[in-house]
Amino acid sequence: MKDTFREKVRHKFMSIAKKHKILTLPCFVLMTVILLMYYICMHFATNGKRYVGVALSLLFFVSSCSFSFAVFTGRSGFIKTQESYNEVVAYSDVELAAQVEVDPDDSLLNEGEDALKGYDASEYIGDEDAYTLDDILESAEHYTVGDKNQDNDPETAEGGAGAEETLTFDSSDWKLVLINKQHPIPEDYSFKLGSIKGYMKCDERIIADLLDMMHAAKADGYNLVIKSPYRTDDRQENNFNERIKSYMNQGYSYMDAYKVASRVITIPGSSEHQVGLAIDITSDTYSDLEQGFGETGAGKWLEEHSCEYGFIVRYPENKEYITSIEYEPWHFRYVGKDAATVIMKEGICLEEFWDKYL
Ligand SMILES: [Zn+2]
Repeated sequence: MKDTFREKVRHKFMSIAKKHKILTLPCFVLMTVILLMYYICMHFATNGKRYVGVALSLLFFVSSCSFSFAVFTGRSGFIKTQESYNEVVAYSDVELAAQVEVDPDDSLLNEGEDALKGYDASEYIGDEDAYTLDDILESAEHYTVGDKNQDNDPETAEGGAGAEETLTFDSSDWKLVLINKQHPIPEDYSFKLGSIKGYMKCDERIIADLLDMMHAAKADGYNLVIKSPYRTDDRQENNFNERIKSYMNQGYSYMDAYKVASRVITIPGSSEHQVGLAIDITSDTYSDLEQGFGETGAGKWLEEHSCEYGFIVRYPENKEYITSIEYEPWHFRYVGKDAATVIMKEGICLEEFWDKYL
């Protein structure tokens, strides 16, 4: 069969070349090319299995290399497992840093810096409604939690002089739930949404302390504005996907877009806004979600006093290597008064608090 085909081609071209001397060279070249193609095809046909094997090996290598890491492992945050949440958080600082470290020389991320301004890493803030204390008080009758003097915090009730020495924390305490890229929201996590005016929603257990804090700030001359309370899972996912799309439109590959997006918006399933424990707060004189807020009077007041009401600056300055989120002086997380006071006094972030106390 092989010889027959080769002979056929040879005879055909030789007869053409004999008739038209001028076509000798083109005929010879064409014949060589055709025969070469033929032999290459025959080679692949007879060695098919070998090439399939090589292709599979390549595929395995690509899927297991670090470049594809975020897509193929549970750490992406898309995969929520109870096990991953239950794992005792016992990272040393070094281990933790290794997991979340962002290479400072990564030019791509540095290019993305500009994009960080004005975005909350937990949310993309677009057309948000903002709520001042006056707005909230205007319709206090809609305040669904009701008695704000009721003490929702048993730890505080036990507190008092000397209590500091005996402070213990419970890792199953809802107030202390650790939510980040490594610890997505537990699947069985449940909470009750409370609302003020029917639409400013957050975990109802934190509203009393939140209002106390807003009152205290007002008494000191700062009108705080709540910008972003509870967000639905869908909203978070849409925000994240929109962000990836916009980076891809700027020419980033999917993986690069994912990498930058996950630094400015929390990966769906790992935002504290999704469990109603995080509130973005600015003031009536500085309403942008920008790092400059930390330098304002209201920003400084909050940094100093928020712990008295159970809130912490969740993504502090100089802890980016642990939180993997840029400094956000506007993003406050409720952890309860005791934990907030410890975190504030020791200048640690929530991850470090878990490492040390839970
Ligand atoms: Zn936030």
